[in-house]
Order: sequence, then C-alpha cells, then structure tokens
Amino acid sequence: MTKIKYIYSPFLISLVITLAGVALSCLIASKSVEWIAKAEKERFNVISEQIAYSIKDSIKENVQLLQNAAIFMTSLPNVTRAEWKYFCDHNSIKNTYIGLEALVYAPKISQEERHSFEQKMRSNEVEKYTIFPQSTAPYIYPVMYIEPFTSLNRNALGFDMISEKIREIAIQHAIESGTVAISSKIELVHEKNIDEKAGFTIYFPVYDQNTSLNSVEERRAALKGLIAAGFKAKNLFNSILESKFIAFDFAIYDGNTPVEAQKLYDSNPSLNLPLLERYMVLDMYGKQWTLYFKANEVLDMNASRYFPWIELLLGTVLSFSLGGWVYALQRTRKEAYRIAEEKTQKLSQSEAEVRSIFQAMSEGIIVMSADGIVTECNLAAQEILQLSSSEILGHSIEEVKWKTFKEDGTLFKYEERPSYKALYNGEHQFNVIVGIQRRNDSFVWVMINAQPILNDDFSNISSAVMTFNDITAYRASKRQLEEYIKIIDANVIISETDIHGIITDVSDAFCHISGYSKEELLGKNHHIVRHPDMPNSVYIELWKSLHVSKTWRGEIKNLRKDGTSYWVDAIISPRYNEAGEKIGYTAIRQDITDKKRIEELSITDKLTGLYNRLKLDNLFAYHLGMTKRYGLNLSIALLDIDKFKMVNDTFGHQVGDSVLQELSTLVKNNIRLEDALGRWGGEEFLIIMPSNTLESAINLAEKLRQKVESFSFTTVGQRTVSFGIATYHDGDDEKSMVSRADKALYLAKENGRNRVEIEE
Ligand code: GH3
Ligand code: MG
Ligand code: MG
Repeated sequence: MTKIKYIYSPFLISLVITLAGVALSCLIASKSVEWIAKAEKERFNVISEQIAYSIKDSIKENVQLLQNAAIFMTSLPNVTRAEWKYFCDHNSIKNTYIGLEALVYAPKISQEERHSFEQKMRSNEVEKYTIFPQSTAPYIYPVMYIEPFTSLNRNALGFDMISEKIREIAIQHAIESGTVAISSKIELVHEKNIDEKAGFTIYFPVYDQNTSLNSVEERRAALKGLIAAGFKAKNLFNSILESKFIAFDFAIYDGNTPVEAQKLYDSNPSLNLPLLERYMVLDMYGKQWTLYFKANEVLDMNASRYFPWIELLLGTVLSFSLGGWVYALQRTRKEAYRIAEEKTQKLSQSEAEVRSIFQAMSEGIIVMSADGIVTECNLAAQEILQLSSSEILGHSIEEVKWKTFKEDGTLFKYEERPSYKALYNGEHQFNVIVGIQRRNDSFVWVMINAQPILNDDFSNISSAVMTFNDITAYRASKRQLEEYIKIIDANVIISETDIHGIITDVSDAFCHISGYSKEELLGKNHHIVRHPDMPNSVYIELWKSLHVSKTWRGEIKNLRKDGTSYWVDAIISPRYNEAGEKIGYTAIRQDITDKKRIEELSITDKLTGLYNRLKLDNLFAYHLGMTKRYGLNLSIALLDIDKFKMVNDTFGHQVGDSVLQELSTLVKNNIRLEDALGRWGGEEFLIIMPSNTLESAINLAEKLRQKVESFSFTTVGQRTVSFGIATYHDGDDEKSMVSRADKALYLAKENGRNRVEIEE
C-alpha cells in the first residue's frame, strides 16, 4: 500500500511566504525611497537651474534697459530731466523692472567743472542741488537725473557715485571695459530691516559719439557719464521666486564663496539645514554670485514621498493576506491528504474484509480474465471442485479436464457452459444446474450463476465471475421430498380453497375418492361434494370456527360424483400468506367410510334399516339429558301395527317382514330429520321427538296414522296402526316415559285400534 502523508507544516509554509512578502515589500519600498530621492534631486536640480536662468535673464533685461539708456544719452545732446523721465516712463521702469529702485544718470565732472555744474543744476533743475561728499578725485560722477523721482530717490541727487570704494571698483570696471559692470553688495542705508538692506548697482558707461573706444585710455577719454541702476536684492529675487517656485528657497552671495557678510538675498533665512541643497556660481558680466539653493521637499513630489510607506503597508498587508490564504490552502490540502489517507486505510481495511468474506463464503467463486484465465478462486470453490488453488489459479478454464452434465444426463458442449456464455457471449447465466464428474470420479451437482463484467467504458467484457453452490445433497433431499409429496398426493385427501370456498388445488387422493378429475374440481365451489344428509348446523358450526381462524375438525358425509356417499374425518384450517393475511383454507381428510359402515351396522335394525333398540336407547338418553339441562320439551310415540299376527298367519312370515319394511319407509319419509325413528321390538316402533310438546306429538302421530291408513301395502293391502304418546315431565327417565307411552298404546288398542292415545 502506498502511504499518503503530508509532510509540510501549513504554518511554516505560510510564515515563509509572509516573511518573504514583507521582505520584498521592504526592498521595493527602500528602492522606491531611492528612486524618489533621485527623482526629487533631479527635479531640485532642474528647478535650481531654472531659477539661475531666471536670475540671469532678469539681470540681462535690466542690463538691456541700461544699454538703451546709454544709447539714449549718447544719441541726444544735453538731455533734460524731463527727457530722462520720458525715457524711464516709456520703459515703465516702475512696473516692468521689479527690484529696480532707481535708474540714474551721472555725468563725468572734473573738479574744475564741479561748481559750475552745481550752479547749472540749481538754476535749471533742482534748487538745492549740491554734490556730496566732498572729494579730491580728479573726476566725480554726481547723480544728475534719477527716476522714479520719489522723495527717497531725490535725496540721492548730487551724490558722487565714485566716492564710495565698492561703487568705484564697479564704475572703473565699467569705464575700462566699456561694458556693463555689477557692483558688489551695497548696504541700502535708507532701509531699516537687515534683510531689506542688501542691494547692488549696475553701471553702464556713456561715451561721446564718434569716438574710438579701442583701448582703456581711449575709453577713459571718451567717457561722458554713467548710467546706474540701483537694485534692492530682496524685491528683485522675490519676484523671480514668487512667480514660479513656491516652497523652493535660495540665497545669493556676492562672490564665488558663500560668505555670510556678502549675502545679497535669502528667501528663507530660517532654513539652515535643508534636506536638499546645491551651490552654483553664476558669472554675469564679470561679476560672480554664489547661488545657494535649498529645499526640504520639492512640492509636486510631496505625495510620492508617501509611496514607499504605502507600498510597504500594502505589501505587508498583501503578504499577510497571501500568507493567510496559503495557510488556509495548505490546511485544506493537509486535511484532504488526511482524509485521503484515512480513506485509503479504510479502503485497504475493507479490501481485507472483502477478501476474508470472499474466502469465508460457502459459495464457490471463480473470477476469470477476458482470455479465460482464472484470476481468483475462493476456498469454497476449491472444496467443491476438489482442486487446490494452484491447480486453478493461472490456468485456463478450458484446461480443467472434467465432464459436465445437464440434468437430463447429457453432456454440456464446451460453448454451452455458463462460463463460456458469460465470457464470450456476454450473457448472464442464472441458476444453471450442472453435474460435474470430478478428477477422482466423484460426482457433484452445482448451481451456477455466471456474470460478465464490463470494462470502465462498457465497451468490452473485461472478466467474468462465476459463483456456484454444491446442491448434491439438496437435490437428493428434493427428490425424496418429491417422492413424499407424490405419496401424500396419492394417499391423503387434500383440498385447498380460497376464502370464498372456491377450490384452488386438490390431491390425487381427493380426485379418487370424489370421483371427479382435477380439472372438474378446480375453480368450483366446495359444495360440489356436499351431501344432502349433512345437516346445515354442521356447516354453520364449521364456518363459525373458520371465521375466527380456528381449525375445525369433524366427520362429514360427502357426495361422490356417481351419487354415492363417502365419509371423511376432516381437519380444516385457515391458510395465510407471508403478510399474515388469510388467503383460504386447507382441508386434510381421512376416509372413514368403512368405519362409518361398521358403526351404522351396529346401530341399525337389519330388517327395516331403522335405528335398533341399542341406538334408540342411546339417543333417548342423549335427548333426555339435553331436555333436562336446557329445560326443553321432549315427546315420544310408540307405534304398534294392529292385528299383525293375522298378517303372519294369513300371508306368511316373509310377507309380514316386507310389511314391516314398507311401513318403516313410509314413516321415515313423513317425520322430520331431527326426529329419531327406530324399531323398539317385533312390530313396535319408537319415535323420539326432541323439542316437541304433547300437542305437536299428537299432531304428528295423527298425521302418520292417516298416512298408514290410506296406504296400500303390497299383497296385504290396507293396514292400520295405533299410537301411544308420552311427553316429558320433571323427574322422568326413559323407563317412566316408555311405561306411560305403553299404557297409552294399550288404551288405544282397548279403545278399538287405529287410534292415537296419550298418557294419563
Ligand atoms: P294387536 O296388537 O292388534 O293387539 O294384535 P296383534 O295380532 O298384532 O298382537 P301382538 O301385537 O301381540 O302380536 C305380535 C305378533 O307379531 C307376534 C308375532 O307373530 C308377530 N311378529 C313379531 N315379530 C315379527 C317379525 O319379525 N316378523 C313377522 N312376520 N312377524 C312378527
Ligand atoms: Mg300388534
Ligand atoms: Mg305388538
């Protein structure tokens, strides 16, 4: 037997799967963190580059404005303040250039021209125009025009721009290079807040028209003045950030290193240790700014920061679900294996049981394969066939040399055998009786059932099973039984009727005694054999007994087909089916005709055929007993032939005898069946009339007297008779009654004969 065992623990399997799932989720989550960080960094870089570009762009725009202003100043001689204002308004510096605090024109003035310039400005433009601070430099650059012309800006009128070191460096650079120059960080003195104070200025030189500007000297010589644009860093850079990059911060340091003192701008000074940061050095027109970008998160990446956690959570939940599912699955599987194992065990158990039953069966069993080879045979088969298992198993059924006989004694042909018919013709064989002459010449009768077995798809016969019983003893006893039945049938008078008395079966003995054939009797009512002598009371009693399912026993006189009679002692019993329902009656009878005949002879008067004195005595005693017990009536009549002696004397004794016989028949035919008539002695007769009163007895006697009187006897003609009647009185016995009847008879004779007289 193959052992089915489930060796894996469902818990371990599901635990491993769950842990693997969680580990995988962690891996994916950590990778996601990396990917998101990388993407965020890239995004951070892109944004910071965009900001750097925007700064550059914004400076470029302002530089463009300065260049235009320089061209404006170069191309027009003696520009007035109004014209400067017009230029500034035209370019709408207030609205377009955010962070641009002031756009300035400062002419190049020598120390000699200083005073006259002040005078000229005072007369033309500004009343209190004064150049400040005082300086000894050969050339000064006092603020001449300034826009927007606010009160704050107005304070700067006359300010010598080169007077300050930081500005001077940038101005010299602009003059010498002939291009734009950006100053270093400048403190905006008029601002109060520290973060508002940072600023810078961009300068652009204005040269005389049509002058060569190829060398530093030529450019210095051709310089007419300066265009300057003053910026408040906070305003300028806020505008860049606000327009595009919310929640993204940066700081700008003047120079190529981030020195706190040189910080021009910081969009979020409180952000000191950002998660993301980047430094970038920006080069603009020879000026270097260090940009420092910082952010804790890049806004539109915000949601994705939670992805790994969601992934981890989902992954864990999924892993546990998967683990749980696998656990349940494995449990189910384990259970299935357990059931399979149990079933297999049970199967092999029942297989063993079946095998032991197979061996223990008293019926011989042989299983044959499709080619007729015996594959199984039990002990009973070996016993019945008197062959060992090795002599049967593995051998073809054809090989076994034995003679098989049919019940009629002829031999079975090979293809007539039940095994052949089942295996090769596919025919079921039921209860085939086969006589087998075995190897040791002993003979056995078997009853065989053979059944073909089809293969799984019912297309072919795969094998056949033969079962058989040894019926040798059964056959012998059956034969004996049949013999017995024949004997019983021939000798016992049996009849069976249904519940209505219709004959359903009769034995041969019944046919014989009744004189009818079986065919004449079947289907007829049992009355067919009823004799008219049998009083109704007997049948009433019989049916009463049968109706309460009691067996009835009694002597019955039956009528033969030829009209003669026979007596039987019958036992009649109800018959039942398997369900206990009464289906009819069975009568078993014994022929008692001979016995009855002897009995009749002993109670019959030989001459007349009437009851003799012995029987009359018995009957008289019986009726007296009944009368006494039940308080009934009883009457008797003594009959004596009148003047009989004369008959004998005249016609002879033989004629006298025949008169006696004729009289007996006449009287018997004119009394009731229940009245008893017998010969009392000589030519005297006694009639016992049970239940009869005196009166009814007189009536009967009178009727008989008249019958006799009017009867004509053979040879002797008319004769008469006399009657003496007695009826029962309390305390009577046979003697007293007969005595009274005798007296009455005597009286009848005395009174002239042919009379009926009663007791005194
Ligand atoms: P009654 O009775 O009228 O007084 O006159 P009876 O002539 O009949 O007289 P009784 O009764 O005394 O006679 C009886 C006679 O019956 C006597 C006998 O010869 C005759 N008898 C008796 N038994 C038989 C019998 O078996 N056969 C014949 N033939 N005669 C018998
Ligand atoms: Mg007489
Ligand atoms: Mg007499």
